[in-house]
Amino acid sequence: MAMFEKILIANRGEIALRIQRACRELGIKTVVVHSEADRDAKYVKLADESVCIGPASSSLSYLNVPAIISAAEVTDAQAIHPGYGFLSENADFAERVESSGFVFIGPRAETIRLMGDKVSAKNAMKEAMVPCVPGSEGELPDDPKEIVKIARAVGYPVIIKAAGGGGGRGMRVVHTEAALVNAVGMTRQEAGSFFNNPAVYMEKYLENPRHVEIQVLADEYKNAIYLGERDCSMQRRHQKVIEEAPAPHIPARLIARIGERCAEACRKIGYRGAGTFEFLYENNEFYFIEMNTRVQVEHPVTEMITGVDIVQEQIRVAAGEKLRYKQKDIVFRGHAIECRINAEDPFTFVPCPGKIEFYHPPGGPGIRVDTHIYQGYTVPSHYDSMVAKVIAYGDTRDQAIRRMRIALSEMSIQGIKTNIPLHQELMQDARFVEGGTSIHYLEQKLADKGEVKL
Ligand code: ADP
Repeated sequence: MAMFEKILIANRGEIALRIQRACRELGIKTVVVHSEADRDAKYVKLADESVCIGPASSSLSYLNVPAIISAAEVTDAQAIHPGYGFLSENADFAERVESSGFVFIGPRAETIRLMGDKVSAKNAMKEAMVPCVPGSEGELPDDPKEIVKIARAVGYPVIIKAAGGGGGRGMRVVHTEAALVNAVGMTRQEAGSFFNNPAVYMEKYLENPRHVEIQVLADEYKNAIYLGERDCSMQRRHQKVIEEAPAPHIPARLIARIGERCAEACRKIGYRGAGTFEFLYENNEFYFIEMNTRVQVEHPVTEMITGVDIVQEQIRVAAGEKLRYKQKDIVFRGHAIECRINAEDPFTFVPCPGKIEFYHPPGGPGIRVDTHIYQGYTVPSHYDSMVAKVIAYGDTRDQAIRRMRIALSEMSIQGIKTNIPLHQELMQDARFVEGGTSIHYLEQKLADKGEVKL
């Protein structure tokens, strides 16, 4: 199959611009769909074509499947790139795209479905010899006595999770047998109403893990490679705040071993495109928690240390090309850190949309800024608060941190509040500088400072 001539981008903000840039480099024309709230954004004007698909509310625009399909039809696009969030992990959407005669830039719909259900994802991973968090064999049964038995075997504390869960919702930690049955009932109820799927399962609750994930790339011909790991342990409410690659202090042989397992799992399930295996990492062991079947917000740190353009590779693979890299071609060099810049109060975390009165981006050696904002741009209130990603690359982690400090000190966004001051503080934090903090570190630090006011 020849390379696409025109791709429709079914997303907004920085990732819509990122995908546009990848297309341009490949000589592909772009169509950007947008809501009424994004009509005047510069990245919309930069695209070859744009189509308004509905009002500001994402359920009527960025999630409006018929409008997106029609936009692809009227503009003669051949493929649709879903970006992250919105419809990117919606198997029904992927199916609709393909049955309407377009290529979905991502895995096959059945793979998205398999990985979208955490119970079936875990089973598939176990079969592929990817290590998982110990827990129930699949879905929990109804019988309370059985549930108690399972929890005793797993050992407290345990975590009850919705099979259809996502976005950090539908989970409950249980420390004692007395609380167990009730907790399972409540999680089931929530799972039923939030995710339309009451199935829940149980895992051992790991007390102090890190979040370490493996980036993979695979083609239709069962070629698959891993592009190393990212550490995304700096989180607040399960939302990543800082990501970096490589993960500090993890022996390269452990990464190689788990990376190989992930690549092998891709071959086994016939994975296609870019994907991420998310793990909790504790006491030198990896435990699979879920797979993301799309490009991630934090993909730039991997691009910086490997030189691979992940978005371009997604497009090439979707067009039927063979992977251009073998595992031995992937060389990891240096260190990269990403700070997610959000339009929010840096200490109360209340979102702060509005007009950017003044903007000065950082620059210099090793600095990459992925953003769609500019002076005079109004950050709409309807969507995610992330407005920019600052990525600092260095030969060493220490150099990357130094460069990030300089970049944050240069960066100026006036008119709205941003979390730049929080990032500046974290770049000076002794434990962060040391590297290897757990997923609870940031929240504990904020709580100690008494700054989590809600
Ligand atoms: P979601 O799809 O909602 O993001 P995940 O399964 O990826 O759900 O889990 C989200 C977060 O919940 C993890 O990053 C981790 O902080 C916490 N978590 C999930 N499972 C466990 C576990 N077994 N032990 C400890 N923490 C967990």
